[in-house]
Formats: sequence, C-alpha cells, structure tokens
Amino acid sequence: MLTVNAYAAPSATEPLVPTTIERRDVGPKDVLIEIHYAGICHSDIHTVRGDWGTIAYPQVVGHEIVGVVTEVGADVTKHAVGARVGVGCMVNSCRECENCLAGAEQYCLKGNTGTYAATDRDGTITQGGYSTHIVVDEDFVLRVPESISYEAAAPLLCAGITTYSPLAHWNAGPGKRVAVVGMGGLGHMAVKIAHAMGAEVTVLSQSLSKQEDGLRLGADHYYATSDKATFSDLKNSFDLIINTVSAQLDINAYLKLLALDGTLVNVGAPPEGLPIQVFTLFGNRRSFAGSSIGSIAETQEMLDFCAEHGIAPETELISADYINEAYERVLKSDVRYRFVIDVATIATPAA
Ligand SMILES: [Zn+2]
Ligand SMILES: [Zn+2]
Repeated sequence: MLTVNAYAAPSATEPLVPTTIERRDVGPKDVLIEIHYAGICHSDIHTVRGDWGTIAYPQVVGHEIVGVVTEVGADVTKHAVGARVGVGCMVNSCRECENCLAGAEQYCLKGNTGTYAATDRDGTITQGGYSTHIVVDEDFVLRVPESISYEAAAPLLCAGITTYSPLAHWNAGPGKRVAVVGMGGLGHMAVKIAHAMGAEVTVLSQSLSKQEDGLRLGADHYYATSDKATFSDLKNSFDLIINTVSAQLDINAYLKLLALDGTLVNVGAPPEGLPIQVFTLFGNRRSFAGSSIGSIAETQEMLDFCAEHGIAPETELISADYINEAYERVLKSDVRYRFVIDVATIATPAA
C-alpha cells in the first residue's frame, strides 16, 4: 500500500480537509500516476454533500485527473513510465456484459466503477483525484496528446467527453443546428466542440452576461432564456439541443425548439425528474434522450480531436486550500469555466 496526501470530505456538511489515503499496490495491469492537476466538477460537490445518495466518508472526489506515469505493473503494455496520462469518470467495468463487449463500458450493465465513491472490485471505496497519486488499471487510462497542456487536459476528462459523446453520436457537423443550454463547465466545452465539428451553434443561457465569451468560444448566436421572446423566436429551429443544466427548467419549452426529428439530450443531472408533455414529442417527431460520459475509446478520440483542433477549456488554476471556496463559487456559477487544482499544493496533513 502507498500512503498519499489528499483532500477529503469528512462528512456531507463539513469542508474538505487535508488528509492521507491508501492506494493499492501496483498490480500486474496497473499504472501508478503522479497527479499534477485535477479539475473540479459539479458532480464532486453533489457527491460529497450526499445530494445523489448516502456515501462513505472520508471521501476524496475528483474525476478530471492528469499526471505522469511513475510505475507500471509487469503486464502493462499501453502506458510507459514518464507518459502523460489522464483518468476520467470511471476506473473499471465488468468487461464481459453486452455493453462492455460493444465498447460502451460507461453503460456497463453491472455498473461501471466510478473513479470515486464507488465500490471497487476489491471491495474498497474508490477515492478520486484530489490527491497526489492514483493507481488505475491501464485499460482505463488515457493518453494526453503533447499539444494539450496538463492543466487544460484535466476538464476534458469529464466536461469534454460528456459533451463530445452526444455531439458525435447525434452527428453534430456542417449543416446541423445545435443549441447548448447553459454556459458553465459543460456548456462552454459543448460550444467549442460543436463549433469545431462544423455545426451552427446557438447558446441558450439564463442571461446575456456571458454572451461575449460564448461568441468568442465559437457560438454563432446567443440568446437569454429569461427573455420569453427567445422561445417563440426559436421555435422548431434546432436539430440537436444539449442541455447541460443540472437544475429544474421547463423542459417542454426547450423541446418545442426542436425541428423535425430533432433530439434534446440531457447531460445535466437534476436530482428530481423533468416532467415531459408527450404531446410536445409528437410534434416534429421529437426525441428526448440522455447521455453519460463516453467510452474509453471515445474519450481517447475526444482528446485527439481536441489536440487536432486546438481546443482547450477555459480554466482558473487554484491551490488546494481554495477548494472549499471554489465549491461555493461553482454553486453560484461564478467560475469561467472550470476550476483546476494544482495538486502540488496539496499539503501534508498536520500530525
Ligand atoms: Zn464530472
Ligand atoms: Zn459490463
């Protein structure tokens, strides 16, 4: 076992504190990664605060992990010591169910093993990236292309793939009208990626406060959803809508913006249901869909796509002792657009 420094939540209601955690010994198929940066995802906050169900504490979160391989197991072939690598939202799956065999291990029928707060195959609870090292099976480790900086790569591992996967699956590209709901961590990545894919991109945000950013990042149009006229002006106008908002909104009003055979894909995860009027789906033969992260192969494809197109998230680099303040700012949407923790600042806990 390897004892490493980390930042953990002691309970659902207390701030995160420096601590140490144990990492398993490097097995034959494992790589040991020295973590350099970890992004802060809204899911981290939902998880540690118990919004999505009770979890075990102390819990280290973080599933936007980037670093360097420092040790490899005897049977590792995909990653060498010194390689720049990343780890996203999952660290394992059953590998034998229909979905795993189809290369869609994020939809493993036995449940993929989440990077944190999940029961690992050895029965321990997985601990995430707000720590100095992690041990991961090589099959769930991504190569980070040279042209993407470590700091910029981190948010791609969740925010990037969560938006890339539905954009690719529903064929965002030239001639497609794509709307992105919400200009946060996920939304700003969706704008950049959809634009790079060649789609005509519209942002639907609560206000126009981030309009300048949206247009700079690649949006062609920008509308405020607080303005009722937006919903009448844009009726029947999109082939694909990516909803990144994790809160309640009038989903039927958004569905009505879909053109013939259009699809609204939810990647935001509101704790409560979104009531849908079936009659809204009848019109234009509309679809309402969900999408969860992406497969490992697709995540690699996304990283390579971002490298090829020079896509990087907009980040604000913080030290570990700022995590709790950063959480409050994420909850107020006061970040442009992703906090990234400089893991070198994770201090040794007081004895
Ligand atoms: Zn995430
Ligand atoms: Zn499976």
